[in-house]
Amino acid sequence: MTLLDPSIRGDFPALEQRLRGRPAVYLDSACTTLRAEPVIQAMVELQRGPLGCHGRSAHSFGRATSLAYEGAREVVRGFLGAREAREIVFVRNTTEAINLVAWSFPWRPGDAVLTTDLEHNSNLLPWQRLARQGRVVHRVLRVDPAAGLDLAALQRRLQGVRLLALPHVSNLFGIDFPLAEVVRLAHRAGAVVLVDGAQGVATHPVDVAALGVDFYAFSFHKIFGPGGGGALYGRAEQLETLRPFLAGGGTVESATYDDARFEPLPMRLEAGVGNYEAVAGGAAAIQYLQKLGQRRLHRHVVELNRIATQGLSRIDRVEILGPADPEKRGSILSFHVRGMQAEGLARMLDHSAGIMVRHGKLCVHAWFDAQRAPDAIRASFSAYTTPDEVQRFVRTVAGGVDMLG
Ligand code: PLP
Repeated sequence: MTLLDPSIRGDFPALEQRLRGRPAVYLDSACTTLRAEPVIQAMVELQRGPLGCHGRSAHSFGRATSLAYEGAREVVRGFLGAREAREIVFVRNTTEAINLVAWSFPWRPGDAVLTTDLEHNSNLLPWQRLARQGRVVHRVLRVDPAAGLDLAALQRRLQGVRLLALPHVSNLFGIDFPLAEVVRLAHRAGAVVLVDGAQGVATHPVDVAALGVDFYAFSFHKIFGPGGGGALYGRAEQLETLRPFLAGGGTVESATYDDARFEPLPMRLEAGVGNYEAVAGGAAAIQYLQKLGQRRLHRHVVELNRIATQGLSRIDRVEILGPADPEKRGSILSFHVRGMQAEGLARMLDHSAGIMVRHGKLCVHAWFDAQRAPDAIRASFSAYTTPDEVQRFVRTVAGGVDMLG
């Protein structure tokens, strides 16, 4: 049996919600997952406990907070397989992590940044803005979503690239990228590799040291944790080269009116008082996920994707985006219905059956624009999703296509 026990649903209080008298069916976990009870508990405990300023106040509450904060950093370090805790920087989310690298990296004139054409806006716009300011040249590598990344094409495009930024898993197609090979090719070409791990960490165990990636970014809210918290891993030699784009409290050892001496890593990259609640919740989320097992979660979502794919494939005019094989799409099923507005169908699913899916350009606007593709619908699955919910989704789509079509 590859499916998780449905009793796991008891860990997610949001599932008690009912929509217009029906149980809510949440199929938008790629956008944000529901929060797990141990995460909520960890955040409440932190707020009720001895809470002071991390790293600054030497009194008892301050020390207790520093202990909790640095304990959470150690949890993230172990989760990503980083060698040292100082290689973990707490940030608000994946978007901030990528911006931190983009705006703090020691660029040289003529540097090129290579991304794929499947980037989420968060891994496109920072590079695009740098390019508009003339600080880098931005190149885009086309990826055939059905075939996956063409390593030979990547190798050809890496010539003269200073930094390669790519997703671990695409939020549009669910396909993953072979990071070990990518890093090997990029390093051979002299490029630094930044991985947008927002969609990757939930279902793909990561070992940054073994992979050799230079930067890896993720958000807690995509792994049952809170919003407003995430982490950037950076190989120590790379993090040392960053010139912090945010400077301020907590980052300096000393300062005069003219100059400042910055703290060592990671403090000098964490300006201002952090989001202690999110960090506590994030550590609890990681521990929850580790107990669940990323591989087990992957098998669960693939099984659900198989049910959904078989069901939707039988509906006339439905076109699934990306590879036909659900195994290659993990937790994600994006689709069009020929001749039908995505918005109308998504609203109908919500209003008539309490089924919540995402619709639109899924924050990959550039791909939709380049392909002249209509808006898509995306159903995404997680630990608490059941086969029953997926079947209800398929039946409701079939009914909607009949009725609205
Ligand atoms: N990258 C990918 C692939 C994503 O799917 C997302 C969120 O959907 C992000 C980046 C941005 O994540 P966040 O909003 O947590 O910064």
